[in-house]
Amino acid sequence: MGYLKEKSGMTLLGTTPEGTCPECATKHASYMPHNRDSLTYQYKFYDQHGRWPTWTDAMSHCPSKIKEAWTQALKERGVEVPE
Ligand SMILES: [Zn+2]
Repeated sequence: MGYLKEKSGMTLLGTTPEGTCPECATKHASYMPHNRDSLTYQYKFYDQHGRWPTWTDAMSHCPSKIKEAWTQALKERGVEVPE
């Protein structure tokens, strides 16, 4: 995935719809994970970190109870969450 330049074209995705999370453009409570599959989130994250986000990144701001619940729910759907 090394084809993106250091600063990719976030101007296109710079604004997010009102009432949605500014990071992932999805409606969710602030203590819930970002939508890892949202392109807005993926490109914003890539701009900041130079790599694509994992679910661990998407829920890094969540309280541990929420993280545990999401990790469990993702596992049940066959998604491994790296520590
Ligand atoms: Zn979000």
